[in-house]
Amino acid sequence: MTFSCIGIGITQKIAVGFGHVLQRRKLETAPRFIEPSQVPDEVDRFRLAVSEAVRSLRKIRQRVAESARSDILAFIDTHLLMLDDSALIEVPVEHIRARQCAAEWALQLQREALAEVFSEFDDPYLRTRMDDVDHLVNHIQKILQQQEEPNQDDPRGRIAIAQDLSPAELIVLHHQGIAGFVTESGGPMSHTAILARSLGIPAVVGVRNATQGLHQGEQLIVDGRQGVLLATSDNAIMAHYRQLIEESRKHTLSLRGLIGQATVTQDGARITLMANIELPEDLAATRSLDADGVGLYRTEYLFMNRPKPPDEEEQFATYRQVVEKLEGIPITIRTLDLGADKPAGTDNQNDRGCSNPALGLRAIRLCLKIPQLFRPQLRAILRTSALGPVKIMIPMISTLQEVRQLKAMVEEAKRSLLRDGLAFDPGVEIGGMIEVPAAALAADAFARELDFLSIGTNDLIQYTLAIDRIDDEVNYLYDPLHPAVLRLIKMVIDAGQTRGIPVGMCGEMAADPRYIPLLVGLGLRQFSVQPGSLLEAKWVLRSIAAQPLMEQVSRLMPQIAEQDTVETLMDLCNPPRFHH
Ligand code: PEP
Ligand code: MG
Repeated sequence: MTFSCIGIGITQKIAVGFGHVLQRRKLETAPRFIEPSQVPDEVDRFRLAVSEAVRSLRKIRQRVAESARSDILAFIDTHLLMLDDSALIEVPVEHIRARQCAAEWALQLQREALAEVFSEFDDPYLRTRMDDVDHLVNHIQKILQQQEEPNQDDPRGRIAIAQDLSPAELIVLHHQGIAGFVTESGGPMSHTAILARSLGIPAVVGVRNATQGLHQGEQLIVDGRQGVLLATSDNAIMAHYRQLIEESRKHTLSLRGLIGQATVTQDGARITLMANIELPEDLAATRSLDADGVGLYRTEYLFMNRPKPPDEEEQFATYRQVVEKLEGIPITIRTLDLGADKPAGTDNQNDRGCSNPALGLRAIRLCLKIPQLFRPQLRAILRTSALGPVKIMIPMISTLQEVRQLKAMVEEAKRSLLRDGLAFDPGVEIGGMIEVPAAALAADAFARELDFLSIGTNDLIQYTLAIDRIDDEVNYLYDPLHPAVLRLIKMVIDAGQTRGIPVGMCGEMAADPRYIPLLVGLGLRQFSVQPGSLLEAKWVLRSIAAQPLMEQVSRLMPQIAEQDTVETLMDLCNPPRFHH
């Protein structure tokens, strides 16, 4: 029997493995009252459930201890500490005794009381701590209701099935060794999808009712190339997919011949090809693939899966290690881009109290609003700039005011470092990400105030076309070839040329072989892509000639508003096919 579901493939990879269902539905808890004589047993039942939760967390901690980063362990430790906290454990016992109610209801009452307290915090970071409480409350409720807790099974080598996964959760699952994953929601440009590509995890998202329709232990095939999920026991189908996995392995191997070769087009145009990194693990690949540098270091991952943000010393230690491992090749460190689908801490929902997080307090907006969060990062990056070629990049700029405020904060951080006798590069370059249409339209003004620009197409497309990049309902509208998007990209490249500053692209569009020739034709000469896409991008870049592409694109761009022009443009900029 074979059962197939269609979704959206987010990595060009295939995995086979047994299903591992991660349920995250809220448990229904209705008021239930008990006889006075039942109270002592009910208290015992509650305490037993808490001990069971502690025991299972310790087991998970032990399992991940060898491979996980210290921040992931810190995340588990926070939950263990909370299970020792009287606010979560003793108050429900008091409710059981005073109200003569069931343990589930007593716990629920305390959850509501805590939610009210947390919602009053001004600090968004503190507000997100409520998710830790929810996570633990759900865990204890499940034990109380004698529900299965599938998370406790070892997910190693399995296909995780979830309603949704935050980037933070994916990191934990990656450390636990999942082979692939399937989610009910999510889009190809969500940060979870980008992270999955970067980690090389085969995945399909947007598979409706996956957590209901698929079963624990079922044999699954995740085909990220076709966006298909198969539940099958058919040996011939399994053999076919195993063969595809083998072919893909050979393809990756054949590309390795390009390592060490220059990224130059057929007609001699030199292209800078850099890597995007998220986790320290990506560094080894960046070095071994011989990238020209790191064009985007997403620092926010350092702030996830932990109860408190890292302080200046911890950030400096991490950035220092990254720069040292790069051995002199340049790195662009992007300042914190928290918010929207990348909340701080262990949260996996959007920030509470904000109706539209993608348009809210995100990235540079959040950093300027919370200087106590931002200052330590600026000081840490500046200190790292004394150790190697480091640039600073600001995400999601939309006004010149933000650039000026940022620069003032950098100057203030430099003065404080001077006072403390700490070294930094006084001429450290500051660039901005162009990801908001307003910034693209005013790229000329930004180019005057910044040392370089980098086009973040993941967000630029989302904001230009008004589609939430994590909403699977509107994903079909996500189109890098929309004439409006192409015009904005061209405006940014032209602004850089006019002002004499470099313009790169670090959004996913830069890594897609279908778009690379067109981008070269638009004048782009700096690409930053995930390590896993770097060699394929190099292969395409080395196979094309820049000058004829530039001529064709500049001839067609004035008529680009018409759809058939986009098609002609794509035909002319057809990527070469790889033969292996
Ligand atoms: C982008 O928006 O294109 C980008 C590179 O940033 P992120 O994906 O981290 O939002
Ligand atoms: Mg972005």
